Amino acid sequence: MDLGPQGAVKDGAIDPAKDVAHLIHPYTNLDAHASRGPVVIERGEGAYVFDSNGKRYLEGMSALWCASLGFSERRLVDAATRQLATLPYYHVFNHRSHPAAIQLASRLTAIAPEGLNHVLFANSGSEANDTAIKLAWYYNNALGRPKKKKIISRWGAYHGVTIGAGSLTGVPAMHADFDLPIANVVHAEMPSWYHGARKGESREAFAARMLSSFEALVEREGPETIAAFIAEPVNGSGGGVILPPPGYFEGIQRLLRKHDILLIADEVITGFGRTGRMWGCDHFGIRPDMMTVAKALSSAYMPISGTLVSDAIHDAMKAESRKIGAFAHGVTYSAHPVCAAVANETLKIYEERDIVGHVARMSPRFAERLAALREHPLVGETRGIGLLGAVEIARDKAERKPFDAASGVGPYIQARAMEHGVIVRAIRDCVAVCPPLIVDEAQIDELFDGLRSALDDAREWVL
Ligand code: PLP
Repeated sequence: MDLGPQGAVKDGAIDPAKDVAHLIHPYTNLDAHASRGPVVIERGEGAYVFDSNGKRYLEGMSALWCASLGFSERRLVDAATRQLATLPYYHVFNHRSHPAAIQLASRLTAIAPEGLNHVLFANSGSEANDTAIKLAWYYNNALGRPKKKKIISRWGAYHGVTIGAGSLTGVPAMHADFDLPIANVVHAEMPSWYHGARKGESREAFAARMLSSFEALVEREGPETIAAFIAEPVNGSGGGVILPPPGYFEGIQRLLRKHDILLIADEVITGFGRTGRMWGCDHFGIRPDMMTVAKALSSAYMPISGTLVSDAIHDAMKAESRKIGAFAHGVTYSAHPVCAAVANETLKIYEERDIVGHVARMSPRFAERLAALREHPLVGETRGIGLLGAVEIARDKAERKPFDAASGVGPYIQARAMEHGVIVRAIRDCVAVCPPLIVDEAQIDELFDGLRSALDDAREWVL
């Protein structure tokens, strides 16, 4: 086999025609792909990736909001190979365990929000959220409340694609023709001030209106039928980085407590320092009963996710185990040793390098460069926290009016940004940025310089 200069396989594996012929691409227009072909990314170095033509891109999205330590962290490679050489696979079913799983469970619960002392591992954020649904049902069955089963999610939320998590996801295109959502999933409004506020409505008044709408939904559905509410502390890919308006989560939590409804925090994007604190929950006084994590748990080097639960939920799981004979749930690769070893090393690196502190220190520059884009004629709003941000593209800034859905302005900006050497992500009328947590100020400038040039190109294009 002929290896290229960086060890890339040159035996035809990167023949774009073979990609088109055989590889099904998620979240891709499969029809258009046949003529467009793939962008083949061959290797990574720090916050950068390189395509098969050798072009370098600053990965302003950490790929899929996940490669927190960038693309060449040697310690993670070593952790994986050490584990592969020692115990490449074992499981945690039926009283078995292994050192990497035990270490990861204790390390993760030690940094988790208060009270989340137990964790069940899986491989993806979708599975973690599916597990959270099952546990909310299991918990209520254990407590003898078989009617308390509905899960409230929000329109614009993204919680994954499996049948349960895909139902929680509140993006109609992700339900269309997949026969989702399933029964017992209800969607509340997303509290996006930019998209939902009435003319002249303050953020506080908007939050109050969102809370009364949420309360009305709970009353309409019947609180005795509602098991849980799930939310991303800061909404990521579904709505386009939506920050909650002031007082929103306080009000939600008051209502949930009143009606004994569990709160599930989806920290799949916001976890592990992305927002400048360890958890998105930390910014908004969120005290979850369950929390789901994935992505940055292993800096995406290996697929691993977790559903963390409170003592009360764990007690109910024990009670059901006594009754049924076992906690009858789990996937073959739950706490996979190689994934767990890489996650352990990732968490060690976060601590040793004070990654959360680094994000907090980088945040002012990120916020300043993001906010500066507000002056751009195509930008209706910018939103951000930590190293997570979005630019809302507007046809009419004053009226907060988007371009026609068919205009393709978001994808155009994304494509132009690539020409300028930065990867950003178009989400309908919004362009998101979420660089690796290791970026420095010069790279933040590089990211926003590239995005600004792409916006300028789009301005010419739409005229
Ligand atoms: N939850 C959130 C907030 C996400 O952003 C994602 C993925 O982007 C998921 C869940 C689903 O994770 P996965 O794609 O690993 O199934």
